[in-house]
Amino acid sequence: TVMAPTTPKTATAAGEGDDRPLAGKVALVTGGSRGIGAAIARRLAAGGAAVALTYHSRQDLADQVVKEIEQAGGQGWAVRADVADAEQVWASVAGAVERFGRLDILVNNAGTGVLGPFEGISLDDVDRVLRTNVRGPFLAAQAAAAHLTEGGRIISIGSCMAERVAFPGGTLYATSKAALTGLTRTLARELGPRGITANLVHPGPIDTDMNPADGESAEFQAGLTSLGAFGQGTDVAETVAHLAGDGGRYITGASIAVDGGFAV
Ligand code: NDP
Repeated sequence: TVMAPTTPKTATAAGEGDDRPLAGKVALVTGGSRGIGAAIARRLAAGGAAVALTYHSRQDLADQVVKEIEQAGGQGWAVRADVADAEQVWASVAGAVERFGRLDILVNNAGTGVLGPFEGISLDDVDRVLRTNVRGPFLAAQAAAAHLTEGGRIISIGSCMAERVAFPGGTLYATSKAALTGLTRTLARELGPRGITANLVHPGPIDTDMNPADGESAEFQAGLTSLGAFGQGTDVAETVAHLAGDGGRYITGASIAVDGGFAV
């Protein structure tokens, strides 16, 4: 019989004497340079994890997040990796393992979106969004799985548009995010016997560069939530931290909404 892993009583060598919940753990967050990913990177680091964060274009912002983590007494490292580029993804995972000695937590956060009428979506848009939002998390999970051991975590950031609500104009984005449901549920099955969990967090409207709370459709989006408001990256980060920590040890294959009651 296989039982869920129990909490180790002794801290790992790296986290010896440190009683923060993620002490001794190493996390890699894709797209950690801003928005939700940056909030997740800061939160996991505050929990005691050493955090590698990838960026695509904004090294300045990624370096800033690392600086903030270090100023708060944590460990961070920024690495450029286009999540759609297999070699760069593998190199970022290998770099994290080389730098911090192991890998325990992958957060598939990097993502992009194109909204617009279905018939006007170009083939270039289709390829770019699917490469970033589907191929990227798939590759990153493969690269990470080679290093994850008992207690390992794969946490992906989906969207309320994947399962909860359908909007005209959201075909491509919803298609890409719904693919993460298949990935997550199947990974939960395939990696479960190794004590590794896979979960999906579906944010609602979160105030970031991608979806600013003072943007064009912000009032409309806020109005569709039960709470009547946008959330912050920190709201998503809190749930990711829960899944990443010991509190998440018996949660796998799950989709968890952090969406203010969007379309409830
Ligand atoms: P932002 O646009 O604010 O940040 C996106 C992040 O992803 C940046 O760090 C960016 O790096 C990185 N990124 C983008 N493309 C790539 C790529 N090809 N390779 C590597 N990194 C990349 O987005 P959010 O923080 O709002 O979104 C984060 C995730 O949450 C996404 O998956 C998004 O779909 C999802 N989401 C967001 C919602 C919202 O309302 N904000 C709602 C539901 C889901 P760089 O800074 O270097 O460009």
